[in-house]
Amino acid sequence: MFDLFVKSPPASNYSSFFSPDYFISRARFVEQAERAGMTRTSYPIAAKGPKGEMLSIDVARLGPKKPEKTLVLSSGLHGVEGYLGAAAQLAFMQRMPALKPGKGVAIAIIHALNPYGFAWNRRVNEDNVDLNRNFLLEGEVYEGVDDSYVELHDLLNPARPPGKINAFVAKAVAQIALKGMRKMKQTFSGGQYEYQRGISFGGKGPTESCEIVKANLSSWVGDAKRVLHVDYHSGLGKSGTYRIFADRQESDEGFKKLARIYGADFLEPWGGELSYNIRGGLGAWCKERFGSDYDVLCAEFGTLPPILVGQAIHYENRAHHYGDPMTPEYQAAKKRILAAFRPDDEAWREAVVSRSLAIADQSLAALLQDD
Ligand SMILES: [Zn+2]
Repeated sequence: MFDLFVKSPPASNYSSFFSPDYFISRARFVEQAERAGMTRTSYPIAAKGPKGEMLSIDVARLGPKKPEKTLVLSSGLHGVEGYLGAAAQLAFMQRMPALKPGKGVAIAIIHALNPYGFAWNRRVNEDNVDLNRNFLLEGEVYEGVDDSYVELHDLLNPARPPGKINAFVAKAVAQIALKGMRKMKQTFSGGQYEYQRGISFGGKGPTESCEIVKANLSSWVGDAKRVLHVDYHSGLGKSGTYRIFADRQESDEGFKKLARIYGADFLEPWGGELSYNIRGGLGAWCKERFGSDYDVLCAEFGTLPPILVGQAIHYENRAHHYGDPMTPEYQAAKKRILAAFRPDDEAWREAVVSRSLAIADQSLAALLQDD
């Protein structure tokens, strides 16, 4: 895998695009959208921030209303992962006046698809739902859980806050030794629709964010025939590396086309080398709704080893549902989730924003070149 830190450009203050919280991130997004002359729409959600603040999904758009092609950049589908995505968006928008997308190409930038998770530093939304498991396809029902998850439910989701001494990592390592890393990742992350306080819960129906996307995405992309939609994520893969997951088979001609745009080494199908198969993903839903020429590119930037990311998700979930915010254990769990998805590391931040921008540029260049 490509090492970002070797080839990243000289320091250019990209890390300054990271914001300290959702509210500052949103304010910067709004200000930059206005400066770049973009049209902007705000979609408030019912859930509120930690101090009762309003929360919203915000969309900024540039270019024709009915373009032939659209570039979409979205952030925060997984709440706390929005720090990275929003930083990438801000860096991209800052250069917008110089970009001149060109005739027939529009740009739509979606800030914080899961504003609650971003504001509260959770991956999931106000109903504990992983939004990238919530976009079920026509005819699918919000039910079901794999037997392997049921088997691990007690380990993954004990109904108590994390204590002073915890055995999760030791137990998870034993399970990995028994079942293999691949199987464990799939079980942990694939999505389940039965345990509402559990990890990777896909919901009991479409969430408010999901409904907003379903009702408005066609106007954001302006019914374009060809859409490249980069959805930024963090937390999967080796630190300093990235991969792009596409909802296509490797043998598919469209996959080969994407490989030419993003580089074959960085692109993989869902369920490939690094990822797992998911139900209810945004990308599959977009394909069903808009057709094969709509590609969601899930750009994943690595942070910590998977066992530590799993540990962070596990403790934060328990702390959130059963913990007391005044205890050191709760605060440690909250700190851990930030370390796993928004590392406090200048070199990492420089590199990920630089690479995120490169992915946005590759996408725009491909759309302009008619690829
Ligand atoms: Zn994610």
